[in-house]
Amino acid sequence: MKITDIKFEKVKIKLKKPFVVALGTIEYCETVIVKVTTDEGYYGFGESAPFSPVTGETLDTVLLTLSNFKNLLIGENPLNIERIHHIMDRFIIGNTAAKAGIDIALYDIKGKVMNQPLYRVLGGFDNKVQTDMTIGIGTPEEMAQDAKDKVEKGFRILKIKVGINHQNDMEAIKKIRETVGNNIRIRMDANQGWNVNDAIRMSRFFEKYGVEAIEQSLPYWDVDGAAFIRKNTNVKVMLDESIHNSKDALKAVKLQAADILNIKLMKSSGLYMAEKINAIGEAAGINCMLGCMLETRIAITAAASLVAAKRNITEADLDSFMYCEESELIKGGFSLKGDIIELLEKPGLGIEVSM
Ligand code: MG
Repeated sequence: MKITDIKFEKVKIKLKKPFVVALGTIEYCETVIVKVTTDEGYYGFGESAPFSPVTGETLDTVLLTLSNFKNLLIGENPLNIERIHHIMDRFIIGNTAAKAGIDIALYDIKGKVMNQPLYRVLGGFDNKVQTDMTIGIGTPEEMAQDAKDKVEKGFRILKIKVGINHQNDMEAIKKIRETVGNNIRIRMDANQGWNVNDAIRMSRFFEKYGVEAIEQSLPYWDVDGAAFIRKNTNVKVMLDESIHNSKDALKAVKLQAADILNIKLMKSSGLYMAEKINAIGEAAGINCMLGCMLETRIAITAAASLVAAKRNITEADLDSFMYCEESELIKGGFSLKGDIIELLEKPGLGIEVSM
């Protein structure tokens, strides 16, 4: 089997409301849909969702990189996934969202060739995933109201964005806990907004409100600092922006800097490297979570399939598709009941895109 064409198309989907995190305010989901076709009738869909503060890519660099990949990969066998990653990595370092778009489409094809859903191709531990729901930064009152609305919709795990203003963060968590009660699991994400002193002080404060994990308190490069926080606090330390690939995961393990690793397909160049990160976490006794950028159903289905497939990936933060206005363009992948994503029993991603 040979790759005969690679198409890619920019899509812009309006968010239901603007989303504020410590790294900026976002109003649209702007992403690139990839379609890889073959000479045997199989085709696969992928997605490249760049987020420049994390992967250094923009929509324009993704489109340019994908056009280079198209020239390099036509004629390759789409099932030679290790070889195709080697070709992409040899051509260009980084550009992980562009690579993820190709990678996801290849796994979609692999599932179709095996005539099995992707969660089974990747391991088949389960077919369901419980996702958390993210609460963006606002006033404490707005955040508590948002948390209440989400809990009423059936979400049992909340991820609270913090990291811009300490006082606001502390009041917000207090109000959210009062509003949702003690049965809702809460984790937080500071998106690199703190230094070591802030992080230790905030962690000790939030521990009283039953916050179970704090994600990426420190700048991405400060893994030693994360290890120091972990030794001096009780709330779990989760790393996100610090972990792009298996080498980063190994470094975090060696420094004993993390209790949970947040894998995102856009940081890891897709599923191929994501599996390696999880294997390192598992060997070190560290559970993993799959998170997302502002992604549509395509990349979310790929990520949810990996969570379902692997016993060591115990957490999911795969909510971005719910912030977007429903797109008529992309259908399938999974159904959502409350906070449970159930993957479809269809080959590959089980997604259809009109493109
Ligand atoms: Mg994060």
